[in-house]
Amino acid sequence: MERYLSIDEIQHKCSRLSDVYEIDEEKFYQIVEKWAAQDASIEDKILNSFIELLQMVSQEMSDMERTVQLEATCRMGCAFCCYFPIIINEMEAKIMKKAIENFPIERRNRIKNHLSNYYEQYGEKLESLTRLDFNEDKDFKLKYRRSLVPCPLLNTKTNQCMAYEVRPIPCRTYVNYTNPDVCKEKLMPKETVSFEFLYEQYMGALNEFMQFLYEEEGDTTFIQYPDDVYQTDYLASWLRSM
Ligand code: SF4
Repeated sequence: MERYLSIDEIQHKCSRLSDVYEIDEEKFYQIVEKWAAQDASIEDKILNSFIELLQMVSQEMSDMERTVQLEATCRMGCAFCCYFPIIINEMEAKIMKKAIENFPIERRNRIKNHLSNYYEQYGEKLESLTRLDFNEDKDFKLKYRRSLVPCPLLNTKTNQCMAYEVRPIPCRTYVNYTNPDVCKEKLMPKETVSFEFLYEQYMGALNEFMQFLYEEEGDTTFIQYPDDVYQTDYLASWLRSM
């Protein structure tokens, strides 16, 4: 029978990380510097920087896991975490939507049809859920999770993310290292780990890039900079307009 790590073992490994692992912030800035120098449209520069920064977050997570010998037990097609509320800023939402618009036409249309059915099915529930104040209400996650409303990008037949490569930081950085049943059995499992602290390096580099485009190039195309950085909301609210 498989033996899973206990909470204490997971916490011990995670706390060791700060002693034995240093996040290579430079790698994040190198991505945007590379794209700043490319001969490409501003839109392509933003999109590619965004995608590569997200990949870098995942790569840093893998490097940390390797360093302290942690192995995710999340299963393909297990999507309990896709029922948590996802909060992102308007800049991230706009880039994500642009990336989806750039998917091959069949895939894009599939997502759009899915979203239209999704809002028809959950629109009313979302009206009240997205009014939960994520800044003030310390129980908003539990209240949202309890409603069993899936993320708009979750295909509930396959339990797969329809925009996996551009999934945002909160879901990308949420991992289980113990018995995967805890996600099924508990609404808010304490055993899971979040690497959301990597948001700092990802957003630091993305923000610096947008600042460069704003100040040096005078063109941030579809992003209203800096205003979009300060507007945060539920992913379910941002995607309503797709
Ligand atoms: S964006 Fe994808 S991975 Fe993230 S919560 Fe939604 S469906 Fe799940």
